[in-house]
Formats: sequence, C-alpha cells, structure tokens
Amino acid sequence: MSGAVSYERVRDHLGRLKMDGALLALDDVLERGQKEERLPVEVLDTLLEREVNARFEKRVRTYLTLSGLPVQKRLEDFDYEAQPQVARDVIEELSTLRFLHNGENVLFLGPCGVGKTHLAIGLALKAIERGHRVYFLTLHDLVTKSRLARERNWAGRLISTILRADLFVLDELGFQPLEPGDATFLFEVVNKRYQHQKSTIVTSNKSFGQWGDTFPDTTLAVALLDRLLHHATTVNIRGESYRLKNRREAGLIGTLGASSGDEAGKPKSG
Ligand code: ADP
Ligand code: MG
Repeated sequence: MSGAVSYERVRDHLGRLKMDGALLALDDVLERGQKEERLPVEVLDTLLEREVNARFEKRVRTYLTLSGLPVQKRLEDFDYEAQPQVARDVIEELSTLRFLHNGENVLFLGPCGVGKTHLAIGLALKAIERGHRVYFLTLHDLVTKSRLARERNWAGRLISTILRADLFVLDELGFQPLEPGDATFLFEVVNKRYQHQKSTIVTSNKSFGQWGDTFPDTTLAVALLDRLLHHATTVNIRGESYRLKNRREAGLIGTLGASSGDEAGKPKSG
C-alpha cells in the first residue's frame, strides 16, 4: 500500500473513531515525527496524547457550560490583603481539591460582599479544570427548581442531577426563609450527598446559630448542619464588603453602611 493510501486510511479511521483531536493534529505530528526522526511508537504516542488532551479540554468546556456558574471568578484574583480574615493557606489547601476527593464540605460564612461567592466559584472552577463535574445553584434557584420538579413529579431526577456532580455549590443559604417542602427537599439533597461522600460548598450570610431562623423547624436545621459540618472546613469572613471598602478608600463614601454588623442581617443578595 502506498504512503498516500495509508494516509487516507488513517484519516478515515480517525474520523470514524471520532478521534477529532488526533485527526486535527495528524499532519503536524507526522511532519514533526519525520523531521525529528522519531520512532513510529513515539509518533503514535504523540498522536494519542493530542487526542487525550483534546478530549479533556472538550470535557472541561462541557462541564463549565453544565455547571451553571453565573460568572467566572478566579482564586488567583482574590485580594487577600483586602480581606485579612481569609487565610491564604486555607484557600490554597482547599485549591488542591483534597476536600473534594475526601468528600468534605466547605462553608463560607459572612456578610454581603466579602467574597464568599467569589471563593466558592474559584474553587468550582479549579474542580472543573481538573475534570470534575460541578453544579452551582443559589438557594433561590434550588427552591424554584425543586418546586417545579415536585409539581411535575421530577423531584427524584433533580436530586439525581445534583448527586451526580462531584462538587455541588449552594450559594446564599439563609437569604430567604424556607417553607416546609423546600426545607425537606434541601435536607434530602444535603443528606444524600453526605451519604455518598460527595462535597458541597455552602455560602451563607447567617452564622450557624441563625440558620434555625430560616428553617420552618429547628430540628431540620440542626440535622442539616450535622451532615454539613461532619467533615468540613468553615471559613468565617467577618470583614467589610470589598466594593464598599474600595469605594470608601477611593474617598467616594464615608464609613456608613460599611460595617459587617450592619450588613449581616440584610436579606439582600451580594
Ligand atoms: P459575597 O458572596 O460574600 O456577597 P462576592 O463574592 O459576590 O461577595 O463579592 C462581591 C464582589 O466583590 C465580587 O465581584 C467579588 O469578585 C469581589 N470581591 C470580594 N472580595 C474580594 C477580594 N478579597 N478580592 C477580590 N475581589 C473581591
Ligand atoms: Mg454571594
């Protein structure tokens, strides 16, 4: 068989095997192999590596789309000097994703604007980039979705979707009071993830002691906390809002409204 026919056959096989990454890299890999006098097995190795890398990148893109992350915030862009309450070494340890492999949870607590969602999204992005499935929901989205799902008898499917994620991010717990059906659903989600040893990141503007106030009954709040805190890292951020701080430092506003205590109880999303 001539080289030209073999080349055509290789292209055809790669196409049929849906090895698009290898197909795209074929000419480049063959040319370099020839120029650098590589062994056939080395050329094959490079070609397969290009396919594996392309598949991984595609997976990352798909997981990013499916994750529901509202914006992309990177841990590298977090300003630790502006928020001395956040220990860089704790965040760096979390960014190794050991917590995810161990099925541990992470809780970011603090008033509006201190970077809870930023840090949660930063960790979520790290997880996606390393090939993990992430699912992000605000509590409000979870309540809306779960009501619809219960109405249409899909509750099981919604729970399965949330359970399938290697990392579930629940943003803004405590921003709204929960009705009994919503609270039970939330408990089921947290409990199932706990039983399957899968990580959850929660952000909340309420301290643990205040969580009971947003639940229809304290027993459920305690049971939920029990599951979440069994294996967990809690990051308490008691600083002031990053945006307010910046504006204040730029001389645009006074200190009014910038204290953490003022903002903590406001039922406003940050
Ligand atoms: P929270 O969820 O605690 O209400 P966010 O994470 O939404 O706060 O932060 C509000 C805004 O301020 C976001 O745009 C976020 O990226 C930014 N921000 C907050 N803290 C920091 C920080 N320490 N460094 C960089 N950006 C920050
Ligand atoms: Mg937030």
